[in-house]
Amino acid sequence: MAHPLFAHESSQRHDTGSHPERAARIVAIERELAARDWCGFERLESPAATVEQLQAVHPATHVARIRALAASGGGRIDADTIVSPGSWDAAVHAAGGAVAVVDALLRDGAGRAASVHRPPGHHCETAEPMGFCLFNSVAVAARHARDAYGIRRVLVFDWDVHHGNGTAEIFAGTDEVLFVSIHEFPLYPGTGRPDERGHGAGEGLTVNLPVPAGSGDDTWVAMTERVVLPVAREYAPELILVSAGYDAHVEDPLAGCEVTDGGFDRMAEAVHRLGTELGVPVGMVLEGGYAPDALARCVAGTLGTWSSPAPGAPAAVPQDGIVDRARAFLAERWPGVAADAG
Ligand SMILES: [Zn+2]
Repeated sequence: MAHPLFAHESSQRHDTGSHPERAARIVAIERELAARDWCGFERLESPAATVEQLQAVHPATHVARIRALAASGGGRIDADTIVSPGSWDAAVHAAGGAVAVVDALLRDGAGRAASVHRPPGHHCETAEPMGFCLFNSVAVAARHARDAYGIRRVLVFDWDVHHGNGTAEIFAGTDEVLFVSIHEFPLYPGTGRPDERGHGAGEGLTVNLPVPAGSGDDTWVAMTERVVLPVAREYAPELILVSAGYDAHVEDPLAGCEVTDGGFDRMAEAVHRLGTELGVPVGMVLEGGYAPDALARCVAGTLGTWSSPAPGAPAAVPQDGIVDRARAFLAERWPGVAADAG
């Protein structure tokens, strides 16, 4: 059975003008996937998220603000974040696609599922749209998993090159989500230091893994294999969601990391192996990625990897000093990291 891939034409009607987060991104992805017979996935129409689903994360005033701004012809929320007349429809389908991923995984028994939309979501905080993001789609999906299916442990692995400050903020004080982010630092939005660990019931459930500009496949793959996977095994998620941005790519114009197509394939493979090992479904929600051709190839790479049997063990994992330091920092809260031979 083909895995579901949720998309919607409204993604092309979120009009940002001359902006790196533009409709060409989605056009390139859909063209690439169509040329590869959808990489073993089946393209389905995303539903719109309901207002109730949005308001499980965002206050009613935030939801109403986006709707009213789009209905009135649009405008700027900040220097980077634009609302056009089509943006409400695009944003509610972006969140709805992420919700549909959860339904496919938890209700319909899909092992893997994907949502490919714009605008992205992971910078949007509880009450603060920012950084190209209007609603936090992956957060809406994670909360839907709790509200509709009683899921108590969701791993959100954010491999976008920017820190997912919105997702971190939304869940920082809860035990609903383990949020793990690899991101270039320093870089927009300026958050994501290792000592931001969550608080209260969420203490220790934010795991920030900053890497410097120039980091490439060795660092990103080793961070995934030697830190993200051991932490995830110890947490024992019931659901894995990837906030899948591809702007750590060497061709990307908005950041300074140097991950190649092959590096993203290896991160996708690691998550695929983790899901198989734990018997847990895995979904991806598209975030950033601003070199459209590289973005399209890498999304296809992730889906193709997830359509193939997961290998039992990784290829040789590079040793990396940045990764060693992250392991040492986390060893007390996550002894599984220290126990992992890595
Ligand atoms: Zn990004």
